[in-house]
Order: sequence, then C-alpha cells, then structure tokens
Amino acid sequence: MKIRNCLNPSKPSFSFEFFPPKTDAGVASLLRTVEELAPLEPGFVSVTYGAGGSTRDRTVELVTHIKQHTGIEAMAHLTCVGHTRDELRDVLRRLGAAGIENVLLLRGDPPQGQTKFEPVPGGFRYAEELVRFVREEDFNFCLGGACYPEGHVETASREDDLQHLKAKVDAGMDFVVTQLFFDNAFYFDFVERARRVGINVPIVPGIMPITNYEQVQRFTRMCGATVPMRLALQMERVKDQPDAVVQLGVAHATVQCMELLSRGVPGIHFYTLNKSPATRMIVGALKGRS
Ligand code: FAD
Repeated sequence: MKIRNCLNPSKPSFSFEFFPPKTDAGVASLLRTVEELAPLEPGFVSVTYGAGGSTRDRTVELVTHIKQHTGIEAMAHLTCVGHTRDELRDVLRRLGAAGIENVLLLRGDPPQGQTKFEPVPGGFRYAEELVRFVREEDFNFCLGGACYPEGHVETASREDDLQHLKAKVDAGMDFVVTQLFFDNAFYFDFVERARRVGINVPIVPGIMPITNYEQVQRFTRMCGATVPMRLALQMERVKDQPDAVVQLGVAHATVQCMELLSRGVPGIHFYTLNKSPATRMIVGALKGRS
C-alpha cells in the first residue's frame, strides 16, 4: 500500500516510528513492541536509518520482517550520509525486491565531529537531490520526507527553509512528516505558510510523548524544537519522579493530538523510541473518543 493513499483527513491514520537496535536483544524487544502496538491498527510504521555501520542493514531487514510477518505497511528511512549514488541505488533495489513500497528520503545529519554536512564524492548534498535521483531511476516508491515547523537547525531563515522544502516536494515527494513539536501553534502556522507557497502534499505531524525529560531536552537541543515554558516548568517540578513525568508527557501529547485531529490532520506519526506504553495510552484514549 502506498502511504499517500492512507493520509486522509476524513480518516486520519496513526503511524509509529522505530529505530534499528544495535543488538539482537534490542531487535527482539522491538519486535515485541511492534506486536503490542499492532492492535492499534497503525496505517504504517517506519524504521529510521542509522548514521553508519550494521544498523543500516537492520533497517532493511526490519521493514521487510515487519511487512511480511505482521502485514503492517512498513516504510524504510534512507539518508545520503556516507553513500554514493551507486550504494543508494543498491539499498533502494533491495527494498524494492523485498516488496517495500514507501521510503522516507533524508539528507541526514553531519557525522559526529563535523559541523557542516559534506557529501561523499559521488553522493548527494541535499535530500532534494536524492528525491530527484529516485524519480529519475524509475523506482516505483511512494516518497516521504522531513519538514521542520520551527525551521531546520542549519537554516538561515524559516522562509529559506520553506523554499528548500518546496523544491524537495516539487522534485517528487508524496508527503512530509514534521520534526517533533510540543506546541501545535508551530504546526498550524507552518501548514498555513507551506500552503501559501504552493506545498500541497499531506503534512503529517510528528509527536513525541515525553517519557524522560532529560532525553527530550537533549533531542530538542539537537533538532531545534522548543518545549513551551509552561510544560518545561511542570516537567522541572516532577523530573525526579519517573511515573509523574510519563503521566504529564502522555497527558500533554494526548491533548496535542486531540486538537490536531479536530483540525483535520491527515494522520499522526508517533516517535515511539521503540517503546509501546506511552503511545498505547495516547492512541487508546484517542480511539476511545471517536
Ligand atoms: P534537507 O531537506 O536536505 O535540508 C537540510 C538543510 O539544507 C536545511 O537547512 C535546508 O533548508 C537546507 N537546504 C535544502 N536544500 C537546499 C538548497 N538547495 N540550498 C541550500 N540549502 C538547502 N536522520 C537520520 O539520520 N536518519 C533518519 O532515519 C531520520 N529520520 C527522520 C525523520 C523525520 C520525520 C525527521 C523530521 C528527521 C529525520 N532525521 C533522520 C533527521 C534529518 O536527517 C536531519 O534533520 C537532517 O539534518 C536534515 O535532513 P533533511 O532530509 O530534512 O535535509
């Protein structure tokens, strides 16, 4: 199933993102998480692409396994980092041969120790170039990409970032998924600005329930997202009580999702961090409401 066909505001789908674990025990635990989330009938799940090394093969293996053994549509992420176009073609061929129909194409972050992204010789500088390549190569994938309601960390201005997103979408993207955000105002404002410059593909909000405040502070520092002052103060107050952090994180994300759904989003993508409880609580509450 092509994901673009299940992104419909009149029947929004829930989707879950995982990362490829480094160990076999991690893989076994992730597959249990997938099993626990399956009853929520996700529209699709996705598996991120690592910065390098063996987890990259795991992305291909995991999406193949999930699709074949659970019947859930599984999307692979793929980045330009460290890859030549021949290597990227090879990964895409493997995905196609395994029956994978959806790929999320990204540039990726600069490798550790580098502040600026440098493509390898024969590789790509921007996700847009990878999208163009996949379309020219005549693969039949439905293509997703990333977007940033608060602006990408490297960009000089949100307007520049939006123009780059438009170029990326025009190169052949079918939908985009947002970076995590904790204040829906960023999302609604971003969608409005995107529509105004002619970006017409579905924009799927990405939601990460806070289950560990320190970890989220690290993520948001890295990706340029902000935690609203009120939520930050509430989290500071309970940060040493793990259960209270989860309750507050789940409550905040549930309220965010209810507002997003009531305003007609095409789906909601959950950053699960390979764990099921928080996502199960939120989606359970959302489904109970309809
Ligand atoms: P691009 O769209 O190429 O943009 C990167 C920067 O370049 C932006 O600042 C943009 O404004 C600028 N830019 C783009 N085109 C041009 C141009 N023509 N001229 C000048 N500037 C330009 N990372 C992983 O390593 N693995 C993953 O699986 C992964 N999954 C992700 C999923 C989602 C939903 C999101 C939101 C992010 C994900 N990331 C992942 C992180 C992502 O790789 C980083 O945010 C990365 O820094 C940017 O990738 P991109 O595809 O958005 O890049």
